[in-house]
Amino acid sequence: MRTSQPQTIFLKDYRVPAFLVDHVDLRFELFEDGARVHCTLAMRRNPDSDSSDKSLELDGDSLTTLESVSLDGKPLEGSAYEDRDDKLTLHEVPDQFNLGIVTWIEPQNNTRLEGLYKSSGMFCTQCEAEGFRCITYFPDRPDVMARFRTRVEADKTRYPILLSNGNDVEKGDLADGRHFVTWEDPFPKPCYLFALVAGDLLEKRDTFKTMSGRDIDLRMYVEPRNAEKCDHAMDSLKRAMRWDEEVYGREYDLDIFMIVAVDDFNMGAMENKGLNIFNSSCVLASQETATDMAFQRIESIVAHEYFHNWSGNRVTCRDWFQLSLKEGFTVFRDSCFSADVGSPTVKRIEDATMLRTAQFAEDAGPMAHPVRPESYMEITNFYTLTIYEKGSEVVGMIHTLLGPDLFRKGSDLYFERHDGQAVTTDDFVRAMEDASGRDLSQFRLWYEQSGTPELTVRDEFDDAAGIYRLTIKQSIPDTPGQTDKKPQHIPFAIGFLGAEGESLPLKLAADDADAPTDRVLELTDASHTFEFHGLSERPVPSLLRGFSAPVRVFYPWTREQLTFLMSHDSDGFNRWDAGQRLAVDVINSLVSSTDGNVDAGLVEAYRSLLADSSLDQALVAKMLQLPSEAYLIELADQPNVPAIHRARERVLAHLARSLRDELLACYHRNTLRGHYEVTPEAVARRSLRNTALAWLLHIDDEEGRTLATSQFNEADNMTDRMGALRALVNSGYEKEQEQALADFYQQWKDDPQVVEQWFAVQSGSTRTGGLRKVHELMEHPAFDWKNPNKIRSVIGVFAGQNLPAFHAEDGAGYQFLAEQVRKLDDSNPQIAARLVSPLTRWRKFAPVHGEQMKSALETVRDKSGLSRDVYEVVHKSLAGQ
Ligand SMILES: [Zn+2]
Repeated sequence: MRTSQPQTIFLKDYRVPAFLVDHVDLRFELFEDGARVHCTLAMRRNPDSDSSDKSLELDGDSLTTLESVSLDGKPLEGSAYEDRDDKLTLHEVPDQFNLGIVTWIEPQNNTRLEGLYKSSGMFCTQCEAEGFRCITYFPDRPDVMARFRTRVEADKTRYPILLSNGNDVEKGDLADGRHFVTWEDPFPKPCYLFALVAGDLLEKRDTFKTMSGRDIDLRMYVEPRNAEKCDHAMDSLKRAMRWDEEVYGREYDLDIFMIVAVDDFNMGAMENKGLNIFNSSCVLASQETATDMAFQRIESIVAHEYFHNWSGNRVTCRDWFQLSLKEGFTVFRDSCFSADVGSPTVKRIEDATMLRTAQFAEDAGPMAHPVRPESYMEITNFYTLTIYEKGSEVVGMIHTLLGPDLFRKGSDLYFERHDGQAVTTDDFVRAMEDASGRDLSQFRLWYEQSGTPELTVRDEFDDAAGIYRLTIKQSIPDTPGQTDKKPQHIPFAIGFLGAEGESLPLKLAADDADAPTDRVLELTDASHTFEFHGLSERPVPSLLRGFSAPVRVFYPWTREQLTFLMSHDSDGFNRWDAGQRLAVDVINSLVSSTDGNVDAGLVEAYRSLLADSSLDQALVAKMLQLPSEAYLIELADQPNVPAIHRARERVLAHLARSLRDELLACYHRNTLRGHYEVTPEAVARRSLRNTALAWLLHIDDEEGRTLATSQFNEADNMTDRMGALRALVNSGYEKEQEQALADFYQQWKDDPQVVEQWFAVQSGSTRTGGLRKVHELMEHPAFDWKNPNKIRSVIGVFAGQNLPAFHAEDGAGYQFLAEQVRKLDDSNPQIAARLVSPLTRWRKFAPVHGEQMKSALETVRDKSGLSRDVYEVVHKSLAGQ
């Protein structure tokens, strides 16, 4: 708990550690009323440090009792050290020594889920970013890398499985029905990668042969009831291991790789060396319990955590300002993996959607920060879309600028040069420069400047000369603490379409005979004009193909041009994007007028999408999704949420009514028979079918109701069952909806991951009662304040997805969220700080809403004993009034 105002930590204050730890010897005695941690550190003065201070300072947090401290085996008197809440200071230490520390901690009372805690009767850990200091006193910073040896002791009946990082080197029985296992990790690692698990878990085994012919033992540990839900994660793991060998030349290094599923977890998953710990919802799947989307998410998260073994563990971050060094690069790696095993265009659309909806919002809000931040109060607040997703885009742009071969040369050099080190994003970029010979000095601004660059594009066509001129101006909006930004180095991919939809050559000089039909223009100045020669007609430009940079593009497209691009662009991403722009334009024109008509062109564009079965159905499935309310809000100045909601609903209803026959045909055409499989084609067909069903139920179509009810009852997989349930919940058919919800719960009440989906479908529905429904769900016996997944699926989904209810005129949604944040702040500040986020954008909304949001935030600010996590978010968003 906070006692004074939290301190801000600055990148410019970074100093190398005064002492290093070569070896950590840990012994955990686990009991029901607590745990005793014996820690011995082999330490020495860091030759690279210029500090002559004789004292040693170690980090600690929430450690119940410090039982003893010894130096080189001799117990220290209390006068030799000072033990404060968050620091242990030894007044004088030699240049090299062994430090022994024994602490008593209470994992069973740890509701923050940082450090060592209990979840469903098992012990587990989460040490990133600063959880290890909740286990013992330690120099808790990533540039202190040590070899760990860990002995875990516990009751053998309750905790037959005892795990830690590395290889198990010793095991045996102890007195009183207890036993122990000792683990040794030969690779030096920062303490944030430490992990421990003890529980009564079922073990699933498999093996993997590496490219050099070594056999790796793969193990998954889950609760016995989840025995049938491991296959997908195991298969994903093997695919990821193979992919990393083939694409990056990276081989796994230990003899064992373990995955553990845990129900109570703040994050999605954690890449601890050799022992990945997963939130159950991000790893367990069966066709009956998980949707296609969950299957894909699991595959990408399993791959992500595995890829960290090199990008994060073997080469780690020097300090937490460099978080994107491992996260941006690893998200880029998992995105490419998902694109390779699935549909590349669909993956690009999904990544861009997330970025444009949520990361652009973050960039425009009070917590905006660069990919490499300059300061923070609480580092867990910086596990953001900017660090992860924008960080990945930044790496992706290097890939675009260098091309795949030089990029691979760069990554090889990076891994070779820095193996076993804790380094910076600058070291990463330098390896890319050294391997490619390219100068990326201006490109580094992507790491330093926050905010989303805006590109304004204007064009003119010189008929007589056959020259088309494209002028592109870039600017970056001011963000907290940053104004007057410099132009950035932006790869801008383009193509031109002729009148028949054909691709035209992009001749940058009159005599360029072999001009390509795709080009990446490199923007480095505030304004550029490019001249394209040899054109007999004015082309339709296809801009920012493949979303080649995380920027906004402004160009005065006409609806005719957008419709044209939607059906002719050879770039799948831009085809989809043209459809989105057209739909945004149509919806926005209805926001201010209640009597306007829905553009007939949009209806016809969707009609041809639904009719054309020769198109890539995965792309069609994406193109049929209207822009989300969140995206429409993000695009608007002072958005009127209820009006945006009504306009979007009107367009949806109009499309559904006009295309009823096509939707029914689409539904039946995409009914799959036979075996369930998660291939891009099968996923696309289920998605199309469920979209058609949702649209039909949106207008309360009778035939749609019959289809939804039978689909719900007969589905052999969760995608179809959930698709039908969601369609019913968002329809006016109350009787069928109640029946389906009751049946669903009855069938799945013992499966927490399915119950979470059941919560989310209700709290996210704009038709089932909003806030009243959310209160009802929170009274439900399956709701649990100690479980982050339940909080996210009820409260998080309400505030993030049920936007008309959250932004209700009376401000009740805002007050509700503020109350929950105040309450949660006492038990789990990390989740509380994330939950408060929707309120922080109060300045974006019209004053009538903005003032109410602000006053809700103020009630959070005024809570006594506010955690550092929530303090930082709330104060930054109220600052500068
Ligand atoms: Zn990660």
